[in-house]
Amino acid sequence: MVGIDEKLEPVLAEVLSRNAGEGEFHQAVREVLESLGRVVAKHPEYADHALIERICEPERQIIFRVPWVDDAGQVQINRGFRVQFNSALGPYKGGLRFHPSVNLGIIKFLGFEQTFKNALTGMPIGGGKGGSDFNPRGRSDGEIMRFCQSFMLELHRHIGEYVDVPAGDIGVGGREIGYLFGQYTRLTNRYEAGVLTGKGLVYGGSRARREATGYGAVYFVERMLATKGASFDGRRVVVSGSGNVAIYTMEKVEQFGGRVVACSDSNGYVVDEAGIDLELLKEVKEVRRGRVADYAALRGKGAYYVDEGSVWDVPCDVAMPSATQNELTGKDARTLIAAGVIAVGEGANMPSTPEAVRLFQEAGVLFAPGKAANAGGVATSALEMQQNASRDSWSFEQTEARLAEIMANIHDTCAATAEEYGAPGDYVLGANVAGFVRVAEAMTALGVI
Ligand code: GLU
Repeated sequence: MVGIDEKLEPVLAEVLSRNAGEGEFHQAVREVLESLGRVVAKHPEYADHALIERICEPERQIIFRVPWVDDAGQVQINRGFRVQFNSALGPYKGGLRFHPSVNLGIIKFLGFEQTFKNALTGMPIGGGKGGSDFNPRGRSDGEIMRFCQSFMLELHRHIGEYVDVPAGDIGVGGREIGYLFGQYTRLTNRYEAGVLTGKGLVYGGSRARREATGYGAVYFVERMLATKGASFDGRRVVVSGSGNVAIYTMEKVEQFGGRVVACSDSNGYVVDEAGIDLELLKEVKEVRRGRVADYAALRGKGAYYVDEGSVWDVPCDVAMPSATQNELTGKDARTLIAAGVIAVGEGANMPSTPEAVRLFQEAGVLFAPGKAANAGGVATSALEMQQNASRDSWSFEQTEARLAEIMANIHDTCAATAEEYGAPGDYVLGANVAGFVRVAEAMTALGVI
């Protein structure tokens, strides 16, 4: 296992003490710094001018009150966040997450990851992230709308097409982006389509944006498998989660000839040996906003629901964790390795714990880290920004072709960087180093910023 290079130990110590109690942020920083030992050995200039310390400190952190009135007429209060992490490569770019687990440390970890992910896409976008501890579960459309309007009432002064461009994440999909955009246009009296991405098609959205994160993750893993002469064709696949990323991961796996035998939500998981019926799952999740237990009940045909243990108990050749951070533990990794898993592709952000990542890599399992494998979503957001800037709208085929090309580039960049830095096949190192070097080069060129 790679430890922290001694030159970087003081940097890590400072980040830990300056951001006390932010466990996920510490985890994300430690993982990147573990990869950077080889960079500072080769490029000592990147250890100068406190460059790495600067990269670990967000440029701006905004925390605000979000008051709103529920259907019973009660005033509710939530906390809103936007962390503008790094703008060396372009306007801050990254999603908004609405989930009760959201706090500043979670948003900082996500913004930090986003900075390197966005750099890997090769598109002109910096890194940011935001959200709220608001829990959308069980809320009516009217409550969601009023919450989004209140959230935007503060957020609008901090964002803009050339400033900061939010999008969706967990708990924020097309419906929420619509309400947020509606409120932004009303507050600013500007039809500034490029201020948000993930918009609906009729008001400036991009084709293939909804599919992009899941499709992109599968393109990445297919290319990674190809380095070993393998593919998805005929493989058993388990996808955790059942949200936007998971659904379109399953769709593309099926298109590539794989069979998805299980997926999950925060309550439990469903096993469907015949292969998940995507039309039914979309109906349950996207239309009814239901749970995977509802899918199992409606599906019949031997599909069954399990509400204990872990979806990773289901044996598979390829695992695609697409739910949330730290959902795949060391124990799960041991189970998957014993069951013969050959590849893991992270559709979510940091879904595998550090122990799980280490076990996969030691066992020779192909491992694609989220900041590379799930970059297709934000890359397609950048394509949406391009379409908005040129007042154009591309076909699905054209947009998906660009996505496929970007994912192939990200894969090849990570693989080549890992090779160059003496760790062939280590996509974690390749992604961290390649993303870092792009941000570091820009920051160096821009002076002490
Ligand atoms: N939330 C997504 C991510 O984690 C997409 C962000 C975006 O499109 O800006 O990358």
